[in-house]
Amino acid sequence: MMAGSGCNAQKLEATKDKKKIQMTNTKPTCVAVEEDELREAIDSYQGWCTNCQAFTHDSSEPDAENYECPDCGRDTVYGAEQALLLGKITLA
Ligand SMILES: [Zn+2]
Repeated sequence: MMAGSGCNAQKLEATKDKKKIQMTNTKPTCVAVEEDELREAIDSYQGWCTNCQAFTHDSSEPDAENYECPDCGRDTVYGAEQALLLGKITLA
């Protein structure tokens, strides 16, 4: 597994294709998540914390934003789908 390769691929895609498929927020952190893990997270409504860089929040809506993280206490939890959409995470 090459962690971080997705981020580079994303940049290449953006220049190669004229139309942007993904919104690329200029966030330095872009974490690769296994597809199985992401699918499970979506199915079970887990939230992704951009601070912990892990799924820490149970029962968050798929489009949740800025939920409070039970681990670090910051409002940095995004729904699994939302996190993917915003480029917080990428598929490994
Ligand atoms: Zn956290």
